[in-house]
Amino acid sequence: MLNIKNLNVRIGDKEILHGIDLVINTGETHAIMGPNGSGKSTLASTLAGRSDCEVISGDVKFLDKDLLKMPVEERATNGLFLSFQNPVEIPGVNNMYFLRTALNSIRKNSGLSEIDAFDFTKLIKDKMKVLGVDEKFLQRALNEGFSGGEKKYNETLQMLMLEPKLLVLDEIDSGLDVDALKVVAEGVNTLKNENRAILLITHYQRLLNYIVPDYVHILYQGKIIASGDKELALQVERDGYAKFIASEKNEDSEWL
Ligand code: ADP
Ligand code: MG
Repeated sequence: MLNIKNLNVRIGDKEILHGIDLVINTGETHAIMGPNGSGKSTLASTLAGRSDCEVISGDVKFLDKDLLKMPVEERATNGLFLSFQNPVEIPGVNNMYFLRTALNSIRKNSGLSEIDAFDFTKLIKDKMKVLGVDEKFLQRALNEGFSGGEKKYNETLQMLMLEPKLLVLDEIDSGLDVDALKVVAEGVNTLKNENRAILLITHYQRLLNYIVPDYVHILYQGKIIASGDKELALQVERDGYAKFIASEKNEDSEWL
């Protein structure tokens, strides 16, 4: 699904990612944890193609294609989805219209015809049941005036509608209380299958109780300093990042 080799990225004149290697196979869920400012969002944004994330060197294959050569919209129509840590508000763009246009762009790319308004409404109502959100949600402008939690519900609704192949979820848990967290996790879990993969970015182990990862990586100062299974996330919760950071500084290979 995704093969990242020796990825180095800068924003402006600051180098943020230093030699990221990561392979995510179809069917797998990977979690990336790490203290604030480690470069987690930069990695997600680079994959999605944000223009200010400048790739200095490295190689990224997405479904055996050269991801870094693909324009943003091609990444999306080929099945890459980024859920933003801070979803953008776009006044004047109707939420339902936005979703229908996005879905039709993806369908077009797969050689399918446009979904008509009737079928779309039926589909979206079904998906909204999973989240239990009010239908008024659809008539509002995209994320405008949405609470933090509502924005995360809206991101989840987008992924349920667009059915991406690779989901990159940047702190989908931030700003959610425990009940809302369970709803969002349930939505994400309905998408888990052997044809998809998920890259979960989070600060907190708590999310990983609900969306269980196969692999966990710790990102610190733009490098992956430890990888393991879900046990690694429990160690972070128990001991914090300090121990991993110290062993990285000592070049002790215990955690690598
Ligand atoms: P994380 O998501 O792990 O908290 P980020 O990827 O957001 O980390 O940030 C990594 C580093 O890159 C931080 O030091 C941050 O200040 C810096 N950074 C992020 N975006 C920009 C930007 N647009 N301009 C300059 N520096 C940035
Ligand atoms: Mg971030």
